[in-house]
Amino acid sequence: MNPQGIAVLGATGSIGVNTLDVVARHPDRFQVVVLTGHRQIDRLLEQAKRFHPRFLVVADAAAAADLRPRLAESGLNAEVLHGPAALEQVAVLPEVDMVMAAIVGAAGLPSAIAAARAGKKVLLANKESLVVAGRLFMEAVREGGATLLPVDSEHNAIFQSLPHDYAGDLDVAGIRKIILTASGGPFRGRLAEELAQVTPEDACKHPNWVMGRKISVDSASLMNKGLEVIEAHWLFNAPPDRIEVVVHPQSVIHSMVQYKDGSVLAQLGSPDMRTPIANVLGWPDRIESGVASLDFMALSGLTFEKPDLIRFPCLALAFSALAAGGDAPAVLNAANEVAVAAFLDRRIRFVDIPMVVESTLSVCDLSASASLADLLAADAEARRVALGKVHSC
Ligand code: NDP
Repeated sequence: MNPQGIAVLGATGSIGVNTLDVVARHPDRFQVVVLTGHRQIDRLLEQAKRFHPRFLVVADAAAAADLRPRLAESGLNAEVLHGPAALEQVAVLPEVDMVMAAIVGAAGLPSAIAAARAGKKVLLANKESLVVAGRLFMEAVREGGATLLPVDSEHNAIFQSLPHDYAGDLDVAGIRKIILTASGGPFRGRLAEELAQVTPEDACKHPNWVMGRKISVDSASLMNKGLEVIEAHWLFNAPPDRIEVVVHPQSVIHSMVQYKDGSVLAQLGSPDMRTPIANVLGWPDRIESGVASLDFMALSGLTFEKPDLIRFPCLALAFSALAAGGDAPAVLNAANEVAVAAFLDRRIRFVDIPMVVESTLSVCDLSASASLADLLAADAEARRVALGKVHSC
């Protein structure tokens, strides 16, 4: 078998590092062609020494100037590019067969769309791409003839629980609904007054998963689940009233599909992102991921509860944005990114995050943008408005 060329966009992040862990187990299957980072140049250099990519992409000219001589000292001759346009350029290289889209936030959108338009196998971790530009992104997948495989553990679980020939029609496939599980995050069961005091460190201490800081805060606020509802809508063509969220604190069942005959198919496993990553990397084959087998005898029990939309309003805001349609999900996402960054910088409280998002949604134009350029302009405007809301918190 000829190794498949892979571009890992966001290689220095949590998903990127886990991807390279799985890739390293299969040197005969994968050839790393591209690695991208943003600010973590030391980590990117170490990765380059191990995987010998042909291209590296970093944030800006200063980061590239820092990296180039260090590569040369190590005897490596990878080409170093920088900036957002370079991300799109490397995503469509002919020697790249598959693209792991693992940049965080809306910054990951243009390169993921470029990969889809170029007909690549797109391994999508960057859920914000679908939240911000679901319609345009799915059009790019169709027009480019790309293969879109979900990395997010919930969506990967649903993907594994759907019929193999699922073509985007729940009724034809005999599906009643899609059930997304949620761990409930580190603040499940906390009182509303306690939530006003929590710190970024508290929010980033997830009970089951080790993740980047932004998604950790989103998990704590349940916005992550809200973004995942929107992601599921686009990936599986599921209307909001056929997507249910169930809190399952053990994170063993990663999500489920309920069929009309009463059957429920689920995917279970240890909470380790290398499982969905190996699933999409190897698809349609099953490959080793390095994840230990689930030990049923060690499980104390599997429990389920309703999400609390009063203490965690972000999930309700996301459902409303999906129902409103147009640019509402993009505005929701932009405001959330601004609010989460402000919380991580200790400029606002955790409980201010939904307030910033809701008040931004209430003043922005939510009508649908016709093009990616218009959408990015709407995203920029929502960020400007959200920043104003942050200042007035
Ligand atoms: P991290 O914060 O750990 O990593 C983000 C990556 O993106 C890093 O490589 C970072 O570079 C790079 N990056 C940051 N800003 C930019 C930018 N403006 N332009 C280009 N690159 C940039 O995030 P995660 O790995 O946790 O998450 C990545 C994506 O995957 C997110 O969309 C998240 O929602 C999704 N996801 C993550 C899961 C997880 O378990 N972590 C689970 C499911 C989905 P550097 O670090 O060098 O600055």
